[in-house]
This record gives sequence, C-alpha cells and structure tokens, in this order.
Amino acid sequence: VGTAAILEGLRLVDHHCHGVVRRDLDRSGFEALISEAGPPAAGASHFDTALGIAIRRHCAPLLDLDPLVDPESYLRRRAELGADEVTRRLLLAAGVGMVLVDSGYRGDELLSAAELAAAAGAVGREILRLETLAETLATRGVDATEFQDRYAEALAAAVAGADAVALKSVAAYRVGLDLDPAPPSAAEVEAAAAAWLRRDADRAERRLDDPVLTRCLLWAAVEAGLPIQFHTGFGDRDVRLDRANPALLTDFVRAVPLRVPLMLLHCWPYHREASYLAAVHENVYFDVGLALPHVGPARAGAVLAEALELAPFGKMLYSSDAFGVPELHHLGALMFRRSLAALLDARVDAEEWAAADARRLARMIGAENAVRVYGLPAPH
Ligand SMILES: [Zn+2]
Repeated sequence: VGTAAILEGLRLVDHHCHGVVRRDLDRSGFEALISEAGPPAAGASHFDTALGIAIRRHCAPLLDLDPLVDPESYLRRRAELGADEVTRRLLLAAGVGMVLVDSGYRGDELLSAAELAAAAGAVGREILRLETLAETLATRGVDATEFQDRYAEALAAAVAGADAVALKSVAAYRVGLDLDPAPPSAAEVEAAAAAWLRRDADRAERRLDDPVLTRCLLWAAVEAGLPIQFHTGFGDRDVRLDRANPALLTDFVRAVPLRVPLMLLHCWPYHREASYLAAVHENVYFDVGLALPHVGPARAGAVLAEALELAPFGKMLYSSDAFGVPELHHLGALMFRRSLAALLDARVDAEEWAAADARRLARMIGAENAVRVYGLPAPH
C-alpha cells in the first residue's frame, strides 16, 4: 500500500481550526471568507487566487458540479443546497477524526466545536483563547489589584468547564512576538491592568494589547500546563507580519519549562524558522496549516518540503486553520494529504527510505503527533 493510500484512509487530527458560519452566503460574504484580506480590491475577485481556483477545482465536484465551474454557478449551487448540506459534504470529505477548535474569535457566528465535529463525523475538543478570556473578565468587571489572581482562577475554571485541551495566544497580533520573556511582577501587572481597565472602560468591546498583561496571560497559561498555541506568520491585515516571526519568541521558549509544549501555528513565510525552532527546542512543535490551501496545489508541496527540511518528523502536526467556510476544511486536508504523500513517496522512490518509514511518518504527522502532545484518545 502506497503512502497516498495510507493518507487517503487516515483520519487526520486537525489540531487548530475554527467553526464555519451557519448562514447562507452571498458572493461578497463568501469572498470575504476565502481571503485574509477582507473585501477584494475594486474590479478584482478573491476567486482569482490560488485558493479561489482550487475551490472551483476541488470543491465543485462535491456539490455535484463539474470541476472548474465558474464562481457564479458554484455559489448558486451552494445556495441551492443550503449551508448545512454544503458543510456536511465538505467536512465529511476532509476525513478528520478529531478537530481541536478555537472558538474565541467571532464564535457566536460559527458552529461550535461540538456542532463542527458532528458535521464532520469527528470528535471535537476546545482550544481556549487567552486574550478573549481576559477581555471577558474585564467586561464583567475586575479590580486591577486582583487582575492576576482572578485571571488565573478564570482560566482554570474555563479549562475545566470546556474540558479544553489547549490554550491559544494571539500575542503576535496584539503586541508582537518580541516580548520580554520574564513573568511580570505583581506591581507591574497591577499598574498595567489599572491603565488598561481605565482606557476602554466605556467601550462594549475590549482589546487586550498591553505587553505586560500579555506576559501575565502567557505565564498563567504556563502554570495551567496545557500546550500553548501561538499564532505566527501570516494572517489577516491586523497582524504586523515582521512581528509575527516565531524566531522572535526564542527567549520566551527558553524561559518556559520543557513540560509545556509550545505549538507554532501557520508559520508561513517563516516556516523555515519554525522548522529550526522545532528542531532544537524539545517542547516546540509547528504546522503549516492555512498556508497550504492559500498557496494552492502548485506550491503546497514546496512549502511543506521547506517546513520539513530540518524539523524532526515527530514535531510537525496537521492543521487546517479553516475559518468560516467548510471549503477551507476540505482543501486544508486535501493539500496536506497530497503534499505529504508526494514528499514521502519521492524519498521511497529515490531508495532513501523504506516504504514502511513513509507510512509511519504519514501517520505521525497526520494524527499521532497531535494525539501524543495533547494527550488525546487514540483515533479509530
Ligand atoms: Zn486560527
């Protein structure tokens, strides 16, 4: 049995993804969710991207359409089937056995972890977003002098309440990854909390973007002991790309005890930096989810190969980072399976690796590494 067949049949563990919208989407609503850009430039379309064409090529047949059908026909058929049916078809095609879901961003518009898992025929578990929890705490009301203790309590309660398997930080978006690695003192946290709580006291929505409080959250996460996921590399325009390079986290990585796994998400275009960090730091793991569907079939293999240049194969995980539309769940899985199978088969064909090695590595990267690091039940 070849590697491609092994990967076809393997129920992937998607260690970082999001729900999909419940509502039916018109063209502008759909296009806004297949790009990190928001609305396209005047006269342009997000269908005219590597990802947009891959949707027409690989998702259209699952909606009973010819491959490469035009965008209007694709969206008409999508509306005809309805959001529930489209979600069901595309999620089942993704072939995931388990999904770890971050519902800390626009979560009220999206299917929950349990709903997403049900549609995919998979098991779903929660990832808790550190900043969202702090913002909720602030909105509910907390005294600056008690912020640190209340946050630690809220984190423990949220982990227990959601039976969460991971924590997630968007420090890259809020303050950049070049943060002071030391835990802040109680006095520093109190002063920073007082300023932050005062600043947006009259606003309905808060945004935690203070570097001292970010460090407070991260060290509370370290104490909690679950794996911590970090957004790194590209994302929507809210991220300043040069401050999202995972190499900027090096001092923090060195400061964190080895028992706490640090998971670098997405990573492109810094996937080689991430590969290095995963190679030399025992508790660092990474993925190139999100990048593979966005660069499309022409380059997904190259990006995956670069990411695996240096990192031990026990350090890479699969993720889709799909958000909003189920097309991204399907394409994330498809690009990953194909790219990894091609890479592994090439080594076997070159008589460098045994076929058994390729099959073993496929299972590790597609599922077993995640099962081990997060302590998940073995997939069946
Ligand atoms: Zn994400």
